[in-house]
Amino acid sequence: MSSREVPELPETETIARDLDGAIRGRQIKKVSVRKADVLREVSARTFAKRLLDARILRSWRRAKLVVLDLDTGDRIVVQPRFTGALLIDDGELKQSELNYSTMRLTLDDGRALHYSDVRRLGTVALMNSDRFEEYTSKLGIEPLDRSFTAAHLSAVLRATSQPVKKVLMEQRKIAGIGNIYANEALWRARIDPSRPAASVGLEEATLLRSSIVGVLKEAIEARGTSFRDYRDARGERGGFVEKLDVYGRGGSSCHRCGSKLVATHAIDGRATVMCIRCQH
Ligand SMILES: [Zn+2]
Repeated sequence: MSSREVPELPETETIARDLDGAIRGRQIKKVSVRKADVLREVSARTFAKRLLDARILRSWRRAKLVVLDLDTGDRIVVQPRFTGALLIDDGELKQSELNYSTMRLTLDDGRALHYSDVRRLGTVALMNSDRFEEYTSKLGIEPLDRSFTAAHLSAVLRATSQPVKKVLMEQRKIAGIGNIYANEALWRARIDPSRPAASVGLEEATLLRSSIVGVLKEAIEARGTSFRDYRDARGERGGFVEKLDVYGRGGSSCHRCGSKLVATHAIDGRATVMCIRCQH
């Protein structure tokens, strides 16, 4: 697959869950920052000082962020973006895998957590709980929360005449959906991605909501989608690529009606793939 995409909700969820299983309860015994330009909110010195001896309570996801809660009240907030990866070095990692390590957190069991990033477009922030609340209050609703109802989605869509696909990817409205899953959900719901969001009725919004939830849950189950640069925390690629209906399939046949899928960049500058016959 040639397109460059950032990890979306399922990929980020996979990273956060893997990390939770691997490092929950561990204490940080040593902090070494090699490339401070990935840091946000704090200096390398403050970062190291506040992390030393902190215990990791859990790893979880909000939007496209991996969040590590610490027993000090601080949170490490990682936004992997294009090439960021959280890698656990238990002595098995190859040197080549650590070439792009920007920081190393040595844990009390001797393993180390690295944030590695080839292009260093991702970020690692340290926030106290007030700052974290403020920061995340600007993010939209979580699509896998119970509060993400058809009525809620319908209200979001009715408020704007922008293309429906663009609205789905707007992080201040709905968190975690990017280009891959917006394409997939709209195909499942048979909605033309270019349609003004306000023209999507409640019945269609109901179908779109269940399409979004369905595709995200299936993708989490498959550990996300495989694409260039994305690696999960175990250093593997996701399996949802086998299940994509439209993304990356321009020119191939529609899995529903057999028509040739059309790829365009005209809607939002990103690759949109759709079935003209099914999505009108
Ligand atoms: Zn079709």
